[in-house]
Amino acid sequence: MKFTIIAETNGDLLHQTTYQLIGAISNIGSKSTVICPNGKGSSEASKIKGVEKIISVNGDCFDLFDGSAWASAINSVCEGTVIISASPNGREIGSIIAAKRNIPIIQDVTGISPGITVTRPIYSGKATETLEISGESVITLRPNAFENADIGNEAPISVVDQTSDLRVAIIEAINKASERLDVTEADIIISGGRGMGSVDNFSHLESIADSLDAAVGASRAVVDEWGMPHRMQVGQTGKTVSPSLYIAVGISGAIQHLAGMRSSKYIVAINKDPDAPIFTIADYGIVASWEEALPILKSELMKL
Ligand SMILES: Cc1cc2nc3c(=O)[nH]c(=O)nc-3n(C[C@H](O)[C@H](O)[C@H](O)COP(=O)(O)OP(=O)(O)OC[C@H]3O[C@@H](n4cnc5c(N)ncnc54)[C@H](O)[C@@H]3O)c2cc1C
Repeated sequence: MKFTIIAETNGDLLHQTTYQLIGAISNIGSKSTVICPNGKGSSEASKIKGVEKIISVNGDCFDLFDGSAWASAINSVCEGTVIISASPNGREIGSIIAAKRNIPIIQDVTGISPGITVTRPIYSGKATETLEISGESVITLRPNAFENADIGNEAPISVVDQTSDLRVAIIEAINKASERLDVTEADIIISGGRGMGSVDNFSHLESIADSLDAAVGASRAVVDEWGMPHRMQVGQTGKTVSPSLYIAVGISGAIQHLAGMRSSKYIVAINKDPDAPIFTIADYGIVASWEEALPILKSELMKL
């Protein structure tokens, strides 16, 4: 089976998830073609093991993000099964490509094995679904669920120029009023719960977030009871996130919260109750009040 991976980028460089997409396909013994929108990250991608060739798809439509325009430009060079990140942009592009090609899409996959068989969490992580796939499909892979591919390759790069066939063009994108990263976009998230005591105390999380370039998240308790914006809520009825690092502060770890963040790569929990359920899934647990722990964390970060 042929695999086409659509690279995700961060500025001019590849996003870490691209290494994971390539790693996931290499691990099932297959090589992949990697599409780099507007050529970004193409020379970097050519050095990753498991990549057979790079197609740099260039065009005006890539100046600003528009899922329809991107999918339209990318689709013509896709072959076989299409692999893309389960990020918000990846899900959007993936579903449009699946519709254009009239093939199924399997979203938010966390495991893939030869054959091919994929697994993904369902019912807010309470069960895992296993699917056998025959024929072509689009598969979105959850960030941080797969190991990075290694460097050590020299794949050829070809260039394809595309003009958008869409009648609608995005001419300007205006940033959100909030400068802060959205929880679904961030690689590091620091979230607060009822244990923070008040909305005002979230300023302590914000100052740590500033030094880590992180997003600030929240449990449903503080969204419902203190009026924090719903876009910050992580969990079953909020956002599903999978960052490299998730720091939960004053969050008990109710099943509905865990449903939205349990696949984070590293989980750090700060809670004064040693029996808080959040510690059952934390990689690092700090049994302390946030009033004690956060100043120490902040001063250590300042040293770095
Ligand atoms: C259908 C449904 C959907 C839901 N969806 C979501 C969802 O999407 N997201 C979500 O988060 N919840 C969701 N919930 C709610 C969930 O069940 C919990 O009620 C909620 O997550 C609890 O939030 P919390 O951990 O902030 O508060 P609490 O459970 O009250 O926990 C506060 C924690 O803070 C600790 N603490 C207190 N003081 C301090 C201190 N000074 N320093 C450090 N730690 C301290 C305590 O030991 C405690 O563990 C849902 C519930 C239902 C029924």
